[in-house]
Amino acid sequence: MLVAGGAGFIGSNLCHRLIAEGDRVICVDNMETGRHENIADLLTHPRFAFLHHDIVGAFTVGGPIDRIYNLACPGSPPKYQRDPVHTFKTSIIGGINLLSLAEEKSARILQSSTSEVYGDPDISPQSEDYRGLVNTIGPRACYDEGKRGAETLFHEMNKRRGVETRIARIFNTYGPRMDPEDGRVVSNFIIQAITGNNLTVYGDGNQTRSFCYIDDMLDGLVALMETETPFGTINDPVNLGNPGEFTMLELADLVREMTGSGSGLVFRGLPVDDPHQRRPDIHKAKHLLGWEPKIPLREGLEPTIAYFRAELAIQQRLRGSAA
Ligand code: NAD
Ligand code: UDP
Repeated sequence: MLVAGGAGFIGSNLCHRLIAEGDRVICVDNMETGRHENIADLLTHPRFAFLHHDIVGAFTVGGPIDRIYNLACPGSPPKYQRDPVHTFKTSIIGGINLLSLAEEKSARILQSSTSEVYGDPDISPQSEDYRGLVNTIGPRACYDEGKRGAETLFHEMNKRRGVETRIARIFNTYGPRMDPEDGRVVSNFIIQAITGNNLTVYGDGNQTRSFCYIDDMLDGLVALMETETPFGTINDPVNLGNPGEFTMLELADLVREMTGSGSGLVFRGLPVDDPHQRRPDIHKAKHLLGWEPKIPLREGLEPTIAYFRAELAIQQRLRGSAA
């Protein structure tokens, strides 16, 4: 198996899962948002290999490969907006390079697409046949439009060239191995609550997101990769996410309660084109894959909070020994 983006949040959790299941894994990552800590324990594993490479550059690897998971692309808005042209190239040129590798190896390839293909949706929940409301030139466009273009590439390579493709439209996912510096709402709120800082709520906090715990997401990704159904059906995009929908104010309250934090809230401007609502319709995933998430937000936040507490303790120890 090859996991592009395997040092990032979802990718590193997937690498651990695949190694635990007995697979051989090649992790390809340029470490743009990946963390050495996420894969450090795998680097000496006999079935794990790490290739430091940017998928925007063509590449091949020796030996057979039967599955390619493409999780390479910064997932957090402040990170993917740092170098918008490179983010766009990662989805498009990186996508072409991985599709070529899949064709060369006769491998099945899964693309991590996103709920962002729906933009700022004017319907809820969002099902796969909703075409989205996306700004082509806003600050999020490098990510949203790159992912939309990649869906087109995967679709055409399947239809015209017979590459076995899968497209997962992933909704907001959280859990251990997120980067504490990531900038997404779950990591920001938990760290702010643990460290006694005010939680930064963007806008009025009434915008919604639906949060899926990482273990559920991995089950969904593997099910989508491995399920066999008639040609055409399974190659079209499938939503993966947890339909439980929360406002950012509700999330802030839950995090403060679960961390026992006395932190307050501080309101900041709503970023441009920030979607007002997001909730997956997962009927297709249930029907095609027999998959649905099992872990509600409160349950998934427990190990996530424990993970961030441990990360902060490590960082404090490192600062202490450096002083
Ligand atoms: P992440 O930023 O933690 O991980 C992305 C990984 O890809 C990092 O290790 C990064 O270094 C690597 N990468 C980026 N550009 C690369 C390039 N050009 N070449 C090689 N490696 C590159 O993000 P994540 O949350 O783990 O997301 C993984 C994938 O899932 C992304 O494609 C993202 O768009 C998608 N996704 C994630 C979410 C979510 O909520 N986490 C939601 C929707 C879609
Ligand atoms: N958000 C927030 N405070 C933060 C970070 C994000 O209120 O410190 C908001 C953000 O504006 C968005 C929601 O939380 O409305 C989810 O943001 P995130 O970056 O996690 O994911 P995305 O916007 O890509 O869904």
